[in-house]
Amino acid sequence: MTTKQSKALYQEAEEHILGGVNSPSRAYKGVGGGTPVFMEKGDGAHLFDVDGNRYIDYLAAYGPIVTGHAHPHVTKAIQAAAADGVLYGTPTVHENRFAAMLKEAIPSLEKVRFVNSGTEAVMTTIRVARAYTGRNKVLKFSGCYHGHSDLVLVAAGSGPATLGSPDSAGVPAAIAEDVITVPFNDTKAFDAAMDRWGEEIAGVLVEPIVGNFGIVEPEEGFLEHVNRETHKHDALVIYDEVITAFRFTYGAAQNLLGVEPDLTALGKVIGGGLPIGAYGGRQDIMEQVAPLGPAYQAGTHAGNPASIRAGIACLEVLKTPGVYEEMDRLGAKLADGLQTSAQKHGISVTVNRLRGALTLYFDTDSVRNYDDADNSNGERFAQFFHGMLNQGINLAPSKYEAWFLTTEHVDSDIDETIAAADSVFADMSS
Ligand code: PLP
Repeated sequence: MTTKQSKALYQEAEEHILGGVNSPSRAYKGVGGGTPVFMEKGDGAHLFDVDGNRYIDYLAAYGPIVTGHAHPHVTKAIQAAAADGVLYGTPTVHENRFAAMLKEAIPSLEKVRFVNSGTEAVMTTIRVARAYTGRNKVLKFSGCYHGHSDLVLVAAGSGPATLGSPDSAGVPAAIAEDVITVPFNDTKAFDAAMDRWGEEIAGVLVEPIVGNFGIVEPEEGFLEHVNRETHKHDALVIYDEVITAFRFTYGAAQNLLGVEPDLTALGKVIGGGLPIGAYGGRQDIMEQVAPLGPAYQAGTHAGNPASIRAGIACLEVLKTPGVYEEMDRLGAKLADGLQTSAQKHGISVTVNRLRGALTLYFDTDSVRNYDDADNSNGERFAQFFHGMLNQGINLAPSKYEAWFLTTEHVDSDIDETIAAADSVFADMSS
């Protein structure tokens, strides 16, 4: 496979764009380097690069592309929105319709607001929780990524509960001191943190199914416990469902798991591939937000008709009976195929899978929190990643990320992927 054009474009990008990429996860730092592939076109489950190579795509743009690339129904909606003018700075009927669709799909959303990204959505839920409770501190779980706002870029400390220190230069230590981090799935550490800081905590920020150190499900009773204890301390439960909403079911992870938060942040899938975020929750809490309340949030592009119409179209496709069942069937086939092939070649892997999303970890037994994921073998993953890319399989360039299926993947894609993995595992074991 030649990647001459990608290499030339990356060199050019490095001259003009800081680091050659507009989001650091797109550089191949997590997989020992290399040239990021420059994609030119997407069609269903496939991407095509500037050198004419075809890839089966499991990156799905880090989650949003659940109906595949250029789905005709979504494309038509975007074309119609473009033809009508993409931004008015006034309310539109589309926002009403989409908000009603989201409320119907996720009943805890009594009121909704649209923003432009998952980062904005999470950042604003924290502001609203602080406004509602009159408190400052936030508790989050180690290794969970909640966007790049100051407050949530805090070191994912493991072991006992710790007050945070900044994970990024430029985040003041004073801000990080308001963030408490405990391991996911660890009720003891959570209880200890709540005992110590519970009366100062505005909100507990949870990815109900973790998507950012691979796919990690909550253990039986964990989320219920978090809800109960958080409410006992008069703090709010905030679910970050930026990855999980409409990824596993028509609705959010909270529907699947039967546990309701007070506030929810959304993004990714709900924009059908265009930029979007949304947040919502209990009416009395949401009433903190301007113009009704004192907590300010605004946006020139918030609720823009193009993103909203793409989101509506995407959800319409996802409403088709059987789409999630089919992603589940293909996800199981892929996970089984990867495991069987790895075993055949004496490679130790663990697959965490939920429906159409999975993560392949090397050299670790089970992954239930960030430390487990962190301990998986990154060098082995890097070898696997580059081998798969060479065989035309596009994965996220990080051992922590998930593989995402779309409604457009079919059996032949899965068969081709397993065959590619088989040859990569064979090389890795020789
Ligand atoms: N929350 C979660 C769980 C995410 O995975 C992400 C992005 O990966 C975000 C928030 C931030 O979303 P965005 O990149 O749209 O700002």
